[in-house]
Amino acid sequence: MSFEYLTISRVKKGLEEKQFSCQELTDYYLKRIDSFKELNSFITVTADTALAQAEKIDEKISRRSKLELLEGMPMAVKDIIMAKAVKTTAGSKILADYLAPYDAAVVSKLKERGAVILGKNNCDEFAMGSSNETSAFGPVKNPWDKQRVSGGSSGGSAAAVAADLCVAALGTDTGGSIRQPAAFCGLVGLKPTYGRVSRYGLMSMTSSLDQAGPIAKCVEDAAILLNVIAGPDENDFTSSTYEAEDYLSDLNSDIKGRTIGVPKEYFTSGMDAEVEKSIKEAIKKFEELGAVVKEVSLPHTVYSLAVYYIIMPAEVSSNLARYDGVRYGFKSQLAKNLFEVYAKSRSEGLGAEVKRRIMMGAYVLSAGYQDAYYKQAKKVQKLIQQEYQKIFSQVEVLLTPTAPTAAFKIGDKFDDPLTMYLSDIYTVSANIAGLCGLSVPGGFSKEGLPIGLQLLGAPFEEKKILQFAYNYQEATDWHLKHPNF
Ligand code: GLN
Repeated sequence: MSFEYLTISRVKKGLEEKQFSCQELTDYYLKRIDSFKELNSFITVTADTALAQAEKIDEKISRRSKLELLEGMPMAVKDIIMAKAVKTTAGSKILADYLAPYDAAVVSKLKERGAVILGKNNCDEFAMGSSNETSAFGPVKNPWDKQRVSGGSSGGSAAAVAADLCVAALGTDTGGSIRQPAAFCGLVGLKPTYGRVSRYGLMSMTSSLDQAGPIAKCVEDAAILLNVIAGPDENDFTSSTYEAEDYLSDLNSDIKGRTIGVPKEYFTSGMDAEVEKSIKEAIKKFEELGAVVKEVSLPHTVYSLAVYYIIMPAEVSSNLARYDGVRYGFKSQLAKNLFEVYAKSRSEGLGAEVKRRIMMGAYVLSAGYQDAYYKQAKKVQKLIQQEYQKIFSQVEVLLTPTAPTAAFKIGDKFDDPLTMYLSDIYTVSANIAGLCGLSVPGGFSKEGLPIGLQLLGAPFEEKKILQFAYNYQEATDWHLKHPNF
């Protein structure tokens, strides 16, 4: 029996029908992780605990034939999400040897449902990046073309799923870090509404924007994983008490007569012609499926990226103050006094992009500039939120590209932060406006690189975007193509 590209429901069926054991399956993935090390998609592989967990699951299966949804499911987790007693680096040298003291809420939930955690995925340092090139552990290679980036910051998670080194993975998304790598790797990536999923145990980058979510091979798997991780958590007071839904039921609900908005402002000059072609074809496909597609206008959305690059660094500068050489992780050996412990540990332990953002953040929060930058950005954020709220009273979902281009070459944008930041132009507004969003495979470039489509929904309307995405997925076969690497 071939284990290749199994989805969650396929694994469940296989285990329940005893077509294979959980140990065989886990072994298959661990061997693949080892064979495709050059992708650099894992920072830590937890082979021993994964195999021990698999043995337990097999023992359970021998006693009863029905399994919980994730029982025995080999999964991976972005290395900014804590897993107890496992190294959790956030892709940074400053936490290179840090053992997490507890499980993040999302990790506990995976474990409670019986998932087998294979290891921790490489990511941009503290989730700051769009290409996984800021990781202190080196860039991740895209399985569709190893010269190219896998996207960021959850690039390791996306590459691992695309290369079939695990069934699915969890990432985090502050400005696009689940959706953009999912698009670059030909996968489904779902960013839930802020508050839908607990942030307890995520190392904070931008506390007011960060959300964890699934990166998966198909829409059904993303829905299953959201079912597992969604819901309130007393350890995170920003998690919402708004009731979570069953995201899997009615996934195939008809979209006939339902409305999709296409914001005209998203068709900017930076959009690649092939991406534009894919989105136009997707519009046609949705119309064939009976959806009503209309052009809408979101005039303030063009400011989302500017607002993001004020609010995000402001919070980064505060959140990362804790990495001081005293409380956590790396401590400089060159320090001769307390000030130098702070200064040298941070200077040696943190990478260039992280430092750039800490400096920007300290600047926009500084006494003379706080009103001009930070407060102004918060006001514009409100306007953007109101604008989306109004649009979602006219259409059910919005359809846009996920990123302006397909995966770019490793090194191409690394020395040009502004161009790099533009990779998130279509994704950041979902975070700024508190929406949910997902990326679904939507075509390929001439060079054979995946192109992603983004569906955005009003706060807490994950079910809707999943339904639209599922209908589109079932009418296309982009998600069935796999990289040849
Ligand atoms: N690429 C964006 C950034 O660099 C988004 C990161 C994220 O979503 N974590 O900030």
